Amino acid sequence: MSTFTTPFKSMLTRHHAPHQPGTPILAVSGLTVRYSGHAALDDVTFDLRAGEQVAVVGPNGAGKSTLLKAVAGVLTPTAGAVTVYGQGSGGHICIAYVPQRTVVDWQFPVTVRDVVLMGRIGMMGLFRQPGKRDFAQVRECLDLVGIADLANRQINELSGGQQQRMFIARALAQEAELMLMDEPLTGLDAPSQEGIFQLLRDLRARGVTIMLSTHDLDQAVQYFDRVMLLNRRLLGFGEPAAVFTPERLMAAYGGHLHLLPLNGGLVAVGDTCCGGDHRHD
Ligand code: ADP
Repeated sequence: MSTFTTPFKSMLTRHHAPHQPGTPILAVSGLTVRYSGHAALDDVTFDLRAGEQVAVVGPNGAGKSTLLKAVAGVLTPTAGAVTVYGQGSGGHICIAYVPQRTVVDWQFPVTVRDVVLMGRIGMMGLFRQPGKRDFAQVRECLDLVGIADLANRQINELSGGQQQRMFIARALAQEAELMLMDEPLTGLDAPSQEGIFQLLRDLRARGVTIMLSTHDLDQAVQYFDRVMLLNRRLLGFGEPAAVFTPERLMAAYGGHLHLLPLNGGLVAVGDTCCGGDHRHD
C-alpha cells in the first residue's frame, strides 16, 4: 500500500465525534506503545490547552513520531488512552496529521489541489461530490499558504517547503483544530523554515492547537508556548526554562552536549541530530 494513501484512508473513516464540554482538546493518559516487545513510549500522561503550540523534542528514537501517530489515531496504543475533547481520537475530523516527508510517497499521481481537497472529505461526507464551496475553500486555503499558483502541479514537483505548505493548506481545508506535525522543519532551508513559522503564527491566530516534533531545541525555545521533552518517558512538559534543565537534558540526551542560550544563561543540550539514546529496556 502506498504510504501516501494512509492519511487519506484514515480520513475516510473519520466522522464528527461529539466534543464533550469542559474537556481538554487533547488528554493523553498512561500512553504506552510497544513494538515487538520494545517500549517506544512508556506511561506518557499530559493534557494540551486549546490554541497552544507545543514542540516535542528528544533524541532520535525517543518516541516522538510514535506519540504523534498514537494521538492521530493511526497507531493503536498498547496501553493507555488518548482523548480529544473527551472522545477517543480515532473519530475526529478536527485532527490533521502531517507525517514526516520521508514516509510520504511523493510519486503518487495527485495534484496539489487534489491533496488539499482531501481535507474537505470529512466536511462534505464520503458520498458527496465536491461542490463549488469545497473548491472555493481549497483555493482560499492554497492562497493563504502562498501556493495558489501550484494547484495543478503534481506533488512530486514541490520543494520541501512547498510540501509543508500543501499539508498546512489541507489542514486548513479540513478546518482542523488540532494539528500534529512530524518534523516539518527538517531539511528545509532557513527562508522556508521562516515561512513555516509565519504560517504557524497564522494558525495561532485561527486558534489551531499545534503539536510539532523537532530536533531544533533553539527553535523549540524561541517559537513555542510549551516544550515536551521525551525519551520513551515524558521527562518534562512546560515552559522551556523549566523543562530544559541540565538534569533533564542529561536524562534525555546523555553525552554529546552543547550549549543553548536560554533566559540569559546557558543550558547544556545533547547532539539532537544524530545518534541519541536508543534504550529498549
Ligand atoms: P523518534 O520519532 O523520536 O525518532 P520513533 O517514534 O520513530 O522515535 O521511534 C521510537 C522507537 O520505536 C525507536 O526505537 C524505533 O526504532 C522504534 N520503532 C518505531 N517505529 C517502529 C516500527 N514500526 N516497528 C518497530 N519499531 C519501531
